[in-house]
Amino acid sequence: MQEFLEEPLTEEESLLLQPFITNSDRAVFGLRNLPEVVKGALFSRYSRSDKSLRRILLDEFIKAPEASFTRIVGGGSDNSADQLVAIQQAEAFYDRVLIGYGDDSVAELGGAHLACEGISNIAAKALEDSRLGISPLEKSTRYVPFNRKINGRYRYYREPSIMASTHAQRYEATLDYLFDTYTDLIEPLLSWVQERTPKDRTTSERAYNNATKAKTLDLLRGLLPMATLTNVGLFGNGRAFEYLLVKLAASPHPEVRILGASMQQELDQIIPSFVKRAKTERGAQYSRYISTNWNRTKYLAQQHLGQIQPAASSTVQLVEYDPDAEVKIVAAILYPHTDLTWEQIQEYVVALSTQERVEIINTYVGDRESRFHRPGRAFEQTYYTFDVLADIGAYRDLHRHRVLTQERQHYCVRHGYVIPTELEEANLAQTYRKALEYAAETTELISQDLPDAAQYVVPFAYRVRWRIKLNLREVYHLVELRSSRQGHPSYRTVAQEIYQQINAVHPTLVANMHFVDLNDYALERLAAEQRIDTKLQQLNQN
Ligand SMILES: Cc1cc2nc3c(=O)[nH]c(=O)nc-3n(C[C@H](O)[C@H](O)[C@H](O)COP(=O)(O)OP(=O)(O)OC[C@H]3O[C@@H](n4cnc5c(N)ncnc54)[C@H](O)[C@@H]3O)c2cc1C
Repeated sequence: MQEFLEEPLTEEESLLLQPFITNSDRAVFGLRNLPEVVKGALFSRYSRSDKSLRRILLDEFIKAPEASFTRIVGGGSDNSADQLVAIQQAEAFYDRVLIGYGDDSVAELGGAHLACEGISNIAAKALEDSRLGISPLEKSTRYVPFNRKINGRYRYYREPSIMASTHAQRYEATLDYLFDTYTDLIEPLLSWVQERTPKDRTTSERAYNNATKAKTLDLLRGLLPMATLTNVGLFGNGRAFEYLLVKLAASPHPEVRILGASMQQELDQIIPSFVKRAKTERGAQYSRYISTNWNRTKYLAQQHLGQIQPAASSTVQLVEYDPDAEVKIVAAILYPHTDLTWEQIQEYVVALSTQERVEIINTYVGDRESRFHRPGRAFEQTYYTFDVLADIGAYRDLHRHRVLTQERQHYCVRHGYVIPTELEEANLAQTYRKALEYAAETTELISQDLPDAAQYVVPFAYRVRWRIKLNLREVYHLVELRSSRQGHPSYRTVAQEIYQQINAVHPTLVANMHFVDLNDYALERLAAEQRIDTKLQQLNQN
C-alpha cells in the first residue's frame, strides 16, 4: 500500500486516541469503545471537514469541554447509567453536530440492538415489515414448540378490546383449543414421521431427532393463531428505527402502538439523538399522515370494490412482466463496457439474434458454482409481479425478503386453509380441521364487532393474499434459497411456482438458475442436520 500521507500524531495524542481506534498510523482504521452518539457525531463531521477522523476526534471531542467526552466514555469504566447522564448533559453539543452538520442520513451512523419479547405475530410482522436498515431475527416455529404454559396459561396475546367485549370467553376458549390440539398432536405425529422415515445407519441420533422434530413442528404450525406470542430481535440504525416508530404509531392495533412507545423508551437510552424526532409533533404528524391516508383509501376501496366477490385464484399468479425484458437485460449487461447512450445500445440489442443475446447473458452470468454466485445489477433491469394466495405460514417466511415490494391484504379465514397431506396420511387431519374450523367461526363472529382485533384469532394455516414485485436478480436469490431442500414445503411451493411461471415466459433469463430445487422431500431438514454433524465432527477433531 502507498505511504499514508497525513499529519502524524504526537506520542501523547496517540496515547489519548489509542483506546478508541484500531491503529494510529494507517489509512484504514476502526472505531471502538465509543458510544453510538459519539461515533455518529464524529462521522457526520466527515462531509464538512478537511481533517482526518483521528484529528476530529481529538480536537472536537476529546479536547472539547462541551462534548463531555471523558464522562461519556466513562474514563475507562463501563457505567452506562453515567454515560447516559453525560450524553444527556451534552445533548445540545451533539444535536448541534448531528443536525447542524449533517442531514437525515446522520441518523444511520449509530445503531442499536433491541429485543421485543412476548409480542404477538401481528406485532412481529409489523416490525419485520421494515426493509432498509433493519435486520430482524425471530423465534422459529420450526425449532421451538409453542405450547409451553406460564402460570397455567398458553402464551398468546389477550387482545384488550376483545377481552373487554362479550367475546372474551369465546376468544380464550378458541385459542386454548388451538394450542391444546397443537400439543395433543405433537407426540402421535412425531411417531408417525419416525415410522415413515426410519433412521438409517449413516444418520446420527442427533441429526435424526432434530430433523423429525422439525418436520413435526412444521406440520403443526398451521394451528398457531396470529395471537401467538413470540420474540423478535432487531438490529438497526437510528434512521430506520425512527421511521419504524412512526409507522408503528400509525397502526390500527393498540398492541403495535404500545410496542412502538416501549421501543422509543428503550432506544432513548441507547441512541436518543437519532430517534428523538419520532416522539415530537413532527413524528406524530407523520404518523397521522400515514393512518389518515390509509383509512381514507380503505373507505374508497370499499366504495369501489366492496360488492365484488373474490374470483377463484391459484397459489401463485404471474400478473405482470416485461415483454422486452431480454433486450433490456442484455443492454444493461453491455452498458458499463461502452461509452454509448442507453438508447443506442438498446437499438443495437434489438437487432441481435436470440442466440447472440443468450451468449451475452451466459457470459455475464458465468460459471455459477453455488447459489451465492449471483448475477450482477443488469438483472435488476426487469421486474415481475405475482399475486400470491398461500397460507400465512408461507407468508410469514417470504415476507422477510427485504429487497422485494410486498403488500398483503388483511388476515382472514375467507380464503380457506391449507392442510399438509402428511396429516391426512397420518390420520390426524380430522382433529386438525376441527380446531381450524372452530377458529374460523370465532374469527367471523368477532369480526362483526371488532374487525381489526379479530385477525388475532386467525391460524397460520389460513390463506392470505399478497402481492410480490421483484427484479430478476432477487428472483435468483429468493427462488434458489427458498426452494432449497431444508425449506418449509409451503414456501418451497411458492418459490418453485415463481420459477416455473417465469420460465414459461422468459426461459433464457432463468436458464442459469442452476440451484432451483424442484424435488419433494420426506424429511426436509435431514441433509442440513447431517451437514451440521460433519461440522461438529470437524470441530471435535481440531
Ligand atoms: C431455511 C430457512 C430457515 C430460516 N429460519 C429463520 C428463523 O428461524 N428465524 C428467523 O428470524 N429467520 C429465519 N430465516 C429467514 C432469514 O433469516 C432471512 O431473514 C430471510 O431468508 C431473508 O433472506 P435474505 O436476508 O437473504 O434476503 P433479502 O432480505 O431478500 O435480501 C437479499 C440480500 O440482500 C442483502 N441484504 C438485505 N438486507 C440487508 C441488510 N440489512 N444488511 C446486509 N445485507 C442485506 C443480503 O445479501 C441478502 O441476502 C430462515 C430462512 C431460511 C431459508
